[in-house]
Amino acid sequence: MALTRTPVVAGWFTEDGPDGGFRLLGTRCSACTTVFFPREDAYCRNPHCPGGGGLAEVPLSARGRVWSYTDGRYRPPAPYVSDPDEPWEPYTLVAVELEAEAMVVLGQAAPGVGVADLAVGMEVEVEGGVLNEDEDAGTAWTTWRFRPVPAAGAAS
Ligand SMILES: [Zn+2]
Repeated sequence: MALTRTPVVAGWFTEDGPDGGFRLLGTRCSACTTVFFPREDAYCRNPHCPGGGGLAEVPLSARGRVWSYTDGRYRPPAPYVSDPDEPWEPYTLVAVELEAEAMVVLGQAAPGVGVADLAVGMEVEVEGGVLNEDEDAGTAWTTWRFRPVPAAGAAS
């Protein structure tokens, strides 16, 4: 049976962005142009905002640059949910600076991408991925990840 792809958090990303690809979704204040991610739908949180604007959904930049990164080699304590009978799979966390939005977004690196593959300033691209599959519920929980963009001119 095919699993239904369901975002792990509703409204934070789309698999059908402006160029048909994966994009994170934020909101932008029409009065001061500040962009929020995670999305802010209630009111603009910029203290210098003149006010009077509305918040509209906007796709964030598909690419950014590595601002910082680290990896998690140990199983976090409760309330983190994980199966203690399964071996712990280390994961890599990346903080990515989006120049156009003037913000830093956190996410996991794509599978197979470790800290040795990353460097501050490296260009990365956001992509969709499956966090986990729940066969019983028929659901694949989807999330976002970052993958290094091959340098221009590099052999692929
Ligand atoms: Zn504002």
